[in-house]
Amino acid sequence: MTRRTRVVVIGGGQTGLAAGYHLRRLGIDFTVLDAQAAPGGAWQHAWDSLRLFSPAALSSLPGRLMPPQPGEPYPDARHVVDYLADYEKRYELPVQHGVQVDGVHRDGPLLRVETDTGGWRAHAVISATGTWSRPFLPAVPGRTSFRGEQLHAACYRRPRDFTGKRVIVVGGGNSGAQIAADLAGHTDLIWATRRPPRFLPDDVDGRVLFDVATARRRALEAGRTDTGGVASLGDVVAVPPVRHARDHGLLRATPMFARLTADGAEWPDGTRAEADTVIWCTGFRPALSHLAPLGIRGPRGRIATSGTRAAGEPRLHLLGYGDWTGPASATLIGAGRPARDAAREIAALPT
Ligand SMILES: Cc1cc2nc3c(=O)[nH]c(=O)nc-3n(C[C@H](O)[C@H](O)[C@H](O)COP(=O)(O)OP(=O)(O)OC[C@H]3O[C@@H](n4cnc5c(N)ncnc54)[C@H](O)[C@@H]3O)c2cc1C
Repeated sequence: MTRRTRVVVIGGGQTGLAAGYHLRRLGIDFTVLDAQAAPGGAWQHAWDSLRLFSPAALSSLPGRLMPPQPGEPYPDARHVVDYLADYEKRYELPVQHGVQVDGVHRDGPLLRVETDTGGWRAHAVISATGTWSRPFLPAVPGRTSFRGEQLHAACYRRPRDFTGKRVIVVGGGNSGAQIAADLAGHTDLIWATRRPPRFLPDDVDGRVLFDVATARRRALEAGRTDTGGVASLGDVVAVPPVRHARDHGLLRATPMFARLTADGAEWPDGTRAEADTVIWCTGFRPALSHLAPLGIRGPRGRIATSGTRAAGEPRLHLLGYGDWTGPASATLIGAGRPARDAAREIAALPT
């Protein structure tokens, strides 16, 4: 069966909900299709100790402030899931959970969205599928010869799963720092990073990051020099657990090893260390395979955009994948603005 609506939003995480909020405000008929069985997007799969890098009020989607979490100045992922579930309900956003989109196709004047539960025809599609479902693992020599356990940060939950083990955490970004801080003291830990970790100043939280991203957007819009944005400040937000581990000398990084061996890792100078587990905190890639039928993916799987609109398909908007779909668009507080812009552009399309 093929159903019809004006806009299909693919992905019902924070970004898809922000899109839904603005489409609803403009009175546009739409449906959100989300692969997860329950609300909350990627936040449902975060590790237990993950804390937001901003207080609740500064982690809010358009229209409704995130309430504070009692006893937690920086809310945990469970709190975000509850907030998103409430947001979906409060604005009566038509989200269909448990629906996997397989492909988006051109179909005359419309776009056809094929799913595992049937098809949809729409005047426009917003892709808001995030990155969590596409963990990235680098091509490190020896990776397949390592006989121990390997997992990506996307699958990490809690330190007690690794008590007493020899663990190598790879990656000098936020997830690497947070997971290394979580494991320090519970495991025999090596934290391997390609360059020395760059901690942001302790007083830099999400608000400062948002201001920096906004300043960058304004500079670029005005044709001024690129300020470099958040990346120019550092890589690791010193959230309280990271700060605590760092200040207690538990968070010491080692340079990246040259290769994995059958039972551990080896560094360029021949130093070796045995390990039971390697946890790859090496990032994610945009989940865009459902857009392959449109033939608009460029080098490294990226899709060229003008604002949020795909350059090769004006009826398609991309939201929330990173700065290339709007500064800070992949954060809670930054999701609203590009979502609003996309909804306005869609409202102006002929129907
Ligand atoms: C470790 C870490 C810490 C972070 N900390 C913060 C923070 O403190 N503050 C902050 O604002 N941001 C933070 N972020 C960033 C950001 O808020 C998240 O990455 C956010 O989850 C992105 O939301 P999203 O809606 O774009 O994607 P997601 O939450 O991943 O939602 C996408 C949804 O689309 C669905 N989907 C995917 N493919 C399909 C398909 N083909 N068909 C149907 N559905 C599909 C998925 O199942 C999912 O439900 C953090 C990210 C990480 C990794």
